[in-house]
Amino acid sequence: MGSIPLRKKNPPVEGVSTSVNHYTMHEVEDQRKVVCFLQPNFTDVLKNNDGSGKRFSVTAFDDCDTIHVRVLLGERPTSKSDPERRVGFKVFKELPEAKEILNIASSLISTLPPLDEPQIAILISEDDHVRVCLRPKASGPLEIAAVLRQPRKEKLYSRSHGILESSLLEDRKVAVVGLGSGGSQVVIELAKAGVGKFVLVDFDRIELHNIVRHVCGLSDLGRLKTNVMRDRVLDKNPFAEVETHNTNINNLEDARRILQGCDIIIAATDNIRSRLNINTLSIELGIVTLYGKCAVRAAGGEVLRVRPKDGPCFSCIYGSASMEAIQEEMSSFRQAREANPPYVGDDEVKATIQVGLSSDINPISNMLVKLALVELCRGKDSALKALETDLQASYYMWANRREQQFAGYAAEGFHRFDRPAILRWYPLEKDRNSDCKTCQDLQVSEENVGFFA
Ligand SMILES: [Zn+2]
Repeated sequence: MGSIPLRKKNPPVEGVSTSVNHYTMHEVEDQRKVVCFLQPNFTDVLKNNDGSGKRFSVTAFDDCDTIHVRVLLGERPTSKSDPERRVGFKVFKELPEAKEILNIASSLISTLPPLDEPQIAILISEDDHVRVCLRPKASGPLEIAAVLRQPRKEKLYSRSHGILESSLLEDRKVAVVGLGSGGSQVVIELAKAGVGKFVLVDFDRIELHNIVRHVCGLSDLGRLKTNVMRDRVLDKNPFAEVETHNTNINNLEDARRILQGCDIIIAATDNIRSRLNINTLSIELGIVTLYGKCAVRAAGGEVLRVRPKDGPCFSCIYGSASMEAIQEEMSSFRQAREANPPYVGDDEVKATIQVGLSSDINPISNMLVKLALVELCRGKDSALKALETDLQASYYMWANRREQQFAGYAAEGFHRFDRPAILRWYPLEKDRNSDCKTCQDLQVSEENVGFFA
């Protein structure tokens, strides 16, 4: 059995304390197996002798080259095999000498029943040093594995340092209403940027036709979009707080309760009524709101930013009740059914559902993300500060292809800046409509009197 010598000393890793043996992938040398601990407090949980037998979830990937390990905390084991029988561990005051590690691990694993599945011995010191040995198969040799630990909070966003400090965003609360192809992209990008609090609103489930455009995959089929996106956010940032609301935003009383206290609202819903309702509530609550939508067949799209005390509202731009015939992308059966009269048959309704590529939706989502970050960081010290000057307009337009309202754009205009072109953002200044019923008729609170007067 070829044993792999332990390194005497771990080399310093950028941003990582050397007193604890964290590894990063580029350090994983000589083809060692990798064991990943999927909890930031994994060693604390192991060391906590609360009298309960620890249970583990163990999943092997890539022909047992990579093993994911979690301690199950009050959860049911998900695996077919008995998870307790896969992991042995022992806490030491100080880690044993390198030459003793394999022997100790071997005796830990010998107490587990022989299984033809990976078995793992974890040796841990009181000051958090860890060694892990792995037997991929019952008949195979015991190997010392490299360890990847889920970092503690302050390490998670090390790649954003200097551009966008995650501490700026960890207390910001973002509501995303509508978790379709566009909304789900926005949620994931904001989680990657370090937004710490999410309010996710949708009442749909993941259906087959969603899969090719959505962040979610086939393994999510049938699940509520809110729950899937919550799991996706926590997979990016386990420290995030995620509220889920499986409700129709058109129930205004619910909606008011849900949206109150949010720092920004992103409306990525697929119907005009919901946007009008969100508009009314956001002005009443004084919350900046971004609206993104794609045109028919996602030939292009637009983004509107409404800052309640500064500029036009959604109704100022789009009018109000007469908006049912607005030209916008129709992507779900429910949306198509709502847009057609009741006597229209299902087949005809299906024929009104349009196609649109994920890559045509992404630019719109991306602009929503940029504007959201600008609003969330407004006035704060970050590299995004300069964008406050560049992104001042309330309305932005984008064309993916020269068709429909974009048909007149010049061919090859992409290379020229003196004419409208595809794949370029156009900011448009829009004014408040003095006849707008929404921002005019609202009950005006005292602090807003100056603005509405
Ligand atoms: Zn208005």
